Amino acid sequence: MSEIRITGVYMQYYFVCKRKLWFFAKNIKMEEKSDLVTMGKLIDEHSYKREKKQINIDDTINIDFIGNRGTIHEIKKSKSIDKADIYQVKYYLYYLYKRGVQDIDGIINYPKLREKVTVELSEQDITEIEAIMEEIDAILKHETPPPVIDTKVCKKCAYYELCYI
Ligand code: SF4
Repeated sequence: MSEIRITGVYMQYYFVCKRKLWFFAKNIKMEEKSDLVTMGKLIDEHSYKREKKQINIDDTINIDFIGNRGTIHEIKKSKSIDKADIYQVKYYLYYLYKRGVQDIDGIINYPKLREKVTVELSEQDITEIEAIMEEIDAILKHETPPPVIDTKVCKKCAYYELCYI
C-alpha cells in the first residue's frame, strides 16, 4: 500500500501529467494564477446552487456535491482531460468503498456542455487504482520531478512558466 496520503487531485494529476503531480505534491502551487482554473472555480460555485457543496473527507477527497441515492457528483468545465476526471471520481468511489460505503456511483457534470458521464467502480478498477497509488508513491519519492511531457496540455497548465521559461 502507498505510504503517503493520496488525494483526489493527486489521482487526477497522475493522468494529466506526472510532473504536475510532483510539483503539486511538493507544495509548489501556482493554480491561483491560471485563468482557466479561476473559470473552473466560478462554474463550480455557480452551478447546482441548491446542493450542499464541497464535502471534504479526511482532507483527502473533496466531493463537489452528493445527489439522490448517495451519488457523488464532480463538476468540470470541459472534457479536455476526461480520463483524468473519470479516475478522480473512481478514486473517490474507491476511497469510500474502502471505508464501507459501497454500491454508489459517481457522475461527472459538465454544465457548460449540458452533459454528464456516469462513473462506476469495478473490481478491475480497484486493482488498477491500487497499482496507480503505488506508482504515485514512487514518483513522489524522487527528489527531482519527472520530465516535461510537451503536449497540448502544457499551454493551459499553471506550471507552464516553471517548465518552459
Ligand atoms: S507545463 Fe506541461 S510538463 Fe509542465 S507540469 Fe504542466 S503539463 Fe506537465
